[in-house]
Amino acid sequence: MRELSQRTANFTDSVIRRMTRIALKYGAVNLSQGFPDFDPPKEILEALKKTADENVHQYAITWGAPNLRKAIAEKQSRLMGFDIDPDSEIVVTCGSTEAMMATMMSIINPGDKVAIFSPFYENYGADTILSGAEPIYVPLVPPEYDFNKDELEAAFKAGAKALVLCNPSNPCGKVFSEKELLDIAELAEKYDAYVVTDEVYEHIVFAPYKHIYFASLPGMRKRTISCSSLSKTYSITGWRLGYTIAPPEITDRIRKVHDFLTVGAPAPLQEAIVTGLKFCQDYYDEFLREYTEKRDIFIKGLDDIGLKHNIPEGAYYIMVDISEFGFESDLEFAEELIKRVGVAGVPGSIFFNEPVNNYIRFNFSKKNETLHDAIERLSHIRECF
Ligand code: GLN
Repeated sequence: MRELSQRTANFTDSVIRRMTRIALKYGAVNLSQGFPDFDPPKEILEALKKTADENVHQYAITWGAPNLRKAIAEKQSRLMGFDIDPDSEIVVTCGSTEAMMATMMSIINPGDKVAIFSPFYENYGADTILSGAEPIYVPLVPPEYDFNKDELEAAFKAGAKALVLCNPSNPCGKVFSEKELLDIAELAEKYDAYVVTDEVYEHIVFAPYKHIYFASLPGMRKRTISCSSLSKTYSITGWRLGYTIAPPEITDRIRKVHDFLTVGAPAPLQEAIVTGLKFCQDYYDEFLREYTEKRDIFIKGLDDIGLKHNIPEGAYYIMVDISEFGFESDLEFAEELIKRVGVAGVPGSIFFNEPVNNYIRFNFSKKNETLHDAIERLSHIRECF
């Protein structure tokens, strides 16, 4: 047989999703892949039932059902502080995963360089490979996850045409400060680079931190492709709904790529989620209150056990330091943790370009009882190793 594609020859399967499969096999509490184990709001489930009887079972307009784009534009205009045109500046995609892939394919030529903060969400690696980009990693140094502006500038000097900015950040829970974002903006302007954001955790930002949309910074709207998702905000990761917000010329290109990649996101689900986008502020306040409680339950549990960890400023992950267990491979540790303790996390090394292998990422987007169960199991960790 002829050789398969060289471009994808070195792909491994996603370690995040692999850990979920191993967790299921051993009946572990699954804190690996980031998704809730609780239901979406009941109003959204009611809307979903209602759409079953409506005539919305064929393709929606490829770049998104008009009423969904309108609802996204209304909500995001309010939050981002500028008027977004639903007809020329939004593409509804199959999750933020597709939003980012379609964006990369719209702005990148094979051989172009793209700056990526490390640690990073593993899909960005695949996105660069599929779009033919060469990544230049800029370290966010643990435990504070700060970056050095000179190192970021070096990436732009080396020719980075775009920067991928995940804020709040998966996996390290960093919320970029205004000063950091302004530094990035200054460099993006100076080197005429695009900024591709991943802002799927925009509503999970713990006090006193605040989310600042990169596109809302002075002069940045024209060079920012804001990617986000409805998965996390409405607890519907399986619906695969996301979107891009970008100036019309860029949106026009993303639409075409998206059209040929997927034709469109599922039409009935686009209809049903309009209900969610119309929720008032109380929903987002309560959503954050619940996530703050989950974070605090998990942190207190880890502290009681004496496991070292960072304090996430946003998103729903925590990095736990496993140095004390003396494993050379965090991948091996993660598997043993599932088998011996019955808790699944993601080996931290898969997120880093640097040789960092002393962290396990846990996801606390779970019912409080699931978190208590995980903590109870983890309280025996030292007996198990
Ligand atoms: N973003 C989530 C994580 O990091 C899951 C994403 C996915 O599996 N598509 O775990």
